[in-house]
Amino acid sequence: MKAYTYLGNRQLAFVEKPKPALIDATDAIVKVTVSSICSSDLHIKYGSVPKAVPGITLGHEMVGIVEEVGNQVHNVKVGDRVVVNVETFCGECYYCKHGYVNNCSSPQGGWALGCRIDGGQTEYVRVPLANQGLTPIPHNVSDMEALFVGDILATGYWATDISEIGSEDNVLIIGAGPTGICTLLCVMLQKPHKIIVCEQSPRRRDFIQQHYPNVIVTDPQNCKDCISKHCEREGADRVIEVAGSEQTFQLAWQCARPNAIVTIVALYDKPQMLPLPDMYGKNLTFKTGGVDGCNCDKILKLIEAGKIDTTPLITHHFKLTEIEKAYDIFENKKDGVIKVAISNP
Ligand SMILES: [Zn+2]
Ligand SMILES: [Zn+2]
Repeated sequence: MKAYTYLGNRQLAFVEKPKPALIDATDAIVKVTVSSICSSDLHIKYGSVPKAVPGITLGHEMVGIVEEVGNQVHNVKVGDRVVVNVETFCGECYYCKHGYVNNCSSPQGGWALGCRIDGGQTEYVRVPLANQGLTPIPHNVSDMEALFVGDILATGYWATDISEIGSEDNVLIIGAGPTGICTLLCVMLQKPHKIIVCEQSPRRRDFIQQHYPNVIVTDPQNCKDCISKHCEREGADRVIEVAGSEQTFQLAWQCARPNAIVTIVALYDKPQMLPLPDMYGKNLTFKTGGVDGCNCDKILKLIEAGKIDTTPLITHHFKLTEIEKAYDIFENKKDGVIKVAISNP
């Protein structure tokens, strides 16, 4: 089968590989029906993911059909349509039992697929610890509707959850890329008082205004003024930073009111500075980290109930054979792209 592979040195290419086989009794083999490209794939390409192993098949955001299961897999059966979780986790260690699956202490735990082991930008993928890593998709939810459940939508759900949003809160989301929009969709379910989205790209601001007309939209240059105008308490009650630049990191704490929660979802390519003397007396709570992707079943129920729809994010469709073109469009943000869907025949 053809597998889109990270070769090291900024090089990606199709490599002919054998169809994967079961290794452990908790493995499953999934026939990939639709996958996507995530900005983390680009981080691997450019060498900013030290754990990424040259030679692995890329792709950690996908849905498919269970082809084969090991004899200890009981959560899914052959023929089930499933979401594949970006994270591999055991479900049994201290961290997993407390819902902190990103820090699962199993040697296989954490982000393995499409990083340390072969991922899903191909025809078949081996999913380790499949009882935790696969979630059946309800009949009335399509593959396209479920595509982001295991990765960027899981991230938006987690970021919203840890931000402890109440009905009186004014929430500022910085960044309206794919993960920022998924975060917005989950924040909207909490019905806070106001939601303000700050985004640099005019095209993405238009996207937000067009699809979510009740959201207030601003850009980084005008963000502080917008916050003073719309927030009664000297700043936003909750700030979720999803953009990942030095400027947006500073905006995040500057736009927060005293005693606010600032949730950092973004990945930065260098260290950021917290100017503690300037922040003294603001008594902020910072929450940081990577997604604990253990709520895929809850997210799928929200999609089934019509409460979350991420299909407007899929601006481009390609076949697996056209994946190089898809990477070019996604990486260079051509043609108003937000997310791409890569289908297998
Ligand atoms: Zn990702
Ligand atoms: Zn664990």
